[in-house]
Amino acid sequence: MSTKKSNNPDETPMMAQYLAIKREHPDAILFYRMGDFYEMFHDDAREAARLLGITLTSRQKGENAIPMAGVPVRAAQNYLVRLIRAGKRVAVCEQVEDPREAKGLVDRKVVRIVTPGTLTEEGVLDDRSPNHLAALCRRRDRAGLAWLDLSTGAFLITEVEPEKVPDELGRIEPAELLLPENRDGEVEEALPFLRDVPLRRCPSFDFDTDSASRDLREFFGTRTLEGFGIDPERMPAAVAAAGALLRYVQETQRTTLGHIRRLRVFQRGNRMLLDRATRRSLELVRTQRDGGREGSLLHHIDRTKTPMGARLMRDRLLAPFKDLTPILRAQEGIAECVEKPSLRAAIREALARIQDLERLTARLCTGRANARDLVGLRQSFERLPALGDHLASAESEILKERGASWDDLSDLASRIAACLVDEPPVTLREGGLIREGFDPELDELRSIGREGKDWIARFQADEIERTGLANLRIGFNKVFGYYIELPRSTDPALVPARYVRKQTIKNAERYVTQELKEFETKVLKSEEMARDLEYNLFSALREDLAAGVARILDASEAVAEVDFVTALAEIAVERAWCRPVVDESLVLRIRDGRHPVLEAALEGEPFVPNDTELDPPERSLVILTGPNMAGKSTWIRQNALLVLLAQIGSFVPAREARIGLVDRIFTRVGAADDIARGSSTFMVEMTETANILHHARRRSLVILDEVGRGTSTYDGLSLAWAICEALHEDLGCRTLFATHYHQMTAMAGLFRGIHNQHVAVREWGDEIVFLHRIQEGGTDKSYGLHVARLAGIGRNVLERAEEILLRLEEEGEALKPGLVRRGSRPRMRQLELFRPPSERLLDELSKLDPDNLSPMDALLKLRELKEKFAGGDSPSP
Ligand code: ATP
Repeated sequence: MSTKKSNNPDETPMMAQYLAIKREHPDAILFYRMGDFYEMFHDDAREAARLLGITLTSRQKGENAIPMAGVPVRAAQNYLVRLIRAGKRVAVCEQVEDPREAKGLVDRKVVRIVTPGTLTEEGVLDDRSPNHLAALCRRRDRAGLAWLDLSTGAFLITEVEPEKVPDELGRIEPAELLLPENRDGEVEEALPFLRDVPLRRCPSFDFDTDSASRDLREFFGTRTLEGFGIDPERMPAAVAAAGALLRYVQETQRTTLGHIRRLRVFQRGNRMLLDRATRRSLELVRTQRDGGREGSLLHHIDRTKTPMGARLMRDRLLAPFKDLTPILRAQEGIAECVEKPSLRAAIREALARIQDLERLTARLCTGRANARDLVGLRQSFERLPALGDHLASAESEILKERGASWDDLSDLASRIAACLVDEPPVTLREGGLIREGFDPELDELRSIGREGKDWIARFQADEIERTGLANLRIGFNKVFGYYIELPRSTDPALVPARYVRKQTIKNAERYVTQELKEFETKVLKSEEMARDLEYNLFSALREDLAAGVARILDASEAVAEVDFVTALAEIAVERAWCRPVVDESLVLRIRDGRHPVLEAALEGEPFVPNDTELDPPERSLVILTGPNMAGKSTWIRQNALLVLLAQIGSFVPAREARIGLVDRIFTRVGAADDIARGSSTFMVEMTETANILHHARRRSLVILDEVGRGTSTYDGLSLAWAICEALHEDLGCRTLFATHYHQMTAMAGLFRGIHNQHVAVREWGDEIVFLHRIQEGGTDKSYGLHVARLAGIGRNVLERAEEILLRLEEEGEALKPGLVRRGSRPRMRQLELFRPPSERLLDELSKLDPDNLSPMDALLKLRELKEKFAGGDSPSP
């Protein structure tokens, strides 16, 4: 070998191996296992050092130096997750043969590529939310979506019209999204809505329906996909997306994926679609303010005890039922648990100790579960028999049926209990996992180790006796193994010749003997054999359990459902919620309804309950007016939330409620933050409203708050009016419309199903007191300036605002700037002219008394009005 060649570190066998592996993973950071470290080289090292703040060193000095950075294997998870969060992918390359047995360079392989959508790391994922990897593609006029939570094995598909993609993706909240390389206009349009989602382009042929269908069949070991209710010809886009997703997972995970047991079609038909605006404005699982869970509806009502239950609760809230059957089934179960506190308490007590069965099973099936995970499974299984007994004693169908088909997994629990100790270590290769008495061979190897201790004690006593050196000690360290230690002060003449000196330390000399070495070899060998055996026994147990995956996941699903029901019973009791009557009518009747979040969040002040009454066609649309801060938004949202709760089967915060099934809830509420995405507030408002007008049906519930506010008064007012008219006349759907435009109250007199309500306030001298009480009838004051004062706007500004307000009220929007110059006085005569003609026309009409008008007078009056307001060139009668 030439000197030059051996000098180039890239050409050492190890580096050659590294570079070969790295070439296969150019777009991932390669964690290259070397002993107790994962090392990174070249650009990977530079990047990791920058992102992780770890030291950049180099392998080999001088001009051939290779930048290098490493993380210890024990702490690797933390670093790995930080790289993923920084948008990277990490390829984990392990030593795949025992270095002790390797001839030359240890063989290494990438065992897994970690990406945002395929994280399964315990302690990293939020155990109350899913972590979805999704794939999206398009076939003609359909968009296909597939999504998988690798941490639980839940794998679903659906097909929707391309314009619904943002809503669906918004519900799924993917952590990573796979797309075909060939860009597709309409599907791409959905992407700006996914601001922070890492996208990954996969080869277009991965999205081929035929090969996807073949791969899926092969993976699930089925001849067709019909068993899953899937016909690839009818759902080609969804199947293609599922195929691409599966391929990606297989390629990145490189392990068995036994916990992915089936592919399900997301039954859009049975579930209510909540669009993005509605989900956000109702703050179902996140707040609008900071996107966090805290403060959301879910945060306030979720009393589940298990992570599976929590994820089910979240899933149901984001897509409630549309059919009566599942709603009534859940209601009945909740009612039973409300009425039987001891049953509820017993079930919840059992649930409390059940760990994340789904995620533990996923780890089991991907070969990543450690002994503690299996003990966690055992402890969870041990709660199942008691839980099954409680369910068997229940009367409601939902609980009773679960109880009747209960699989308590006690055989699996016993298998784990027999094999593993109660508190095993995290590491798998260092022993201490397997219970005494489980395996005779292991017991024997262990006894050699144990006897070894006695042997050492005996050996020490014998040597002291033989040599007469009372200070003689036997010790052990990792470098030299067992040794005999004598103080330095010992007379060398008394040290026997068979003692071979091994090490000199400050106060002592250390020796070994032939006998001691032989003993050591035997003990160390047996320890090593015991460790290997323990690992093998553990792996066998893990595989054995993985074969029972279907049973564990079925149990997990049952636990989630039972948790869901009892948690809703718990909150119903805690907050005195009532069981609503849910039926096929179009009624929305609530007595003393409360806002489920605000009622809990208000400190000190009591929440003021309010009624709601909608019953089309007699009463389909309520126009709600009232000052700022009165509670308009609270009330209209509260109604939407109550409907939503009722349709997951829950009780609701009210004294009484009757809720006719709603097929969709639409909201247009509050300011949107899409300005950052290039849409003005008004544009967003109109886009959302257009969506409502296009998609709402007779059975929908529409909640509109201050629509039209984002533009000039008359534009806004006329739009608001026309929108209300369309909702009422064309759709007849139940609608609550909160507005500042008092003029809209006139609609109540013109349309049969439109009614006015307002939020009451009491005036108290100069002050106003918010009563938060919703009453019949309209209002004509807005009190905006009072609120401005409450908010701390200065006196001078307020006084000036009052002056301008007075003029505006008198002059209408056509107000001339010159007339409101500071200090100018209003001139009443002139002002009348500046009021909008429509208002003046209305005034004149309201002064008329048709009962006391002759037909001729009426005709003349009509002509006069026409001349005055419409140009006056009408033909003579
Ligand atoms: P704006 O027109 O300014 O948007 P709004 O009429 O929509 O005001 P909300 O935002 O609904 O008013 O309510 C303002 C505040 O009043 C709430 O934050 C809450 O603290 C209180 N509030 C509303 N409704 C009630 C209620 N029913 N009981 C007690 N407090 C309430």
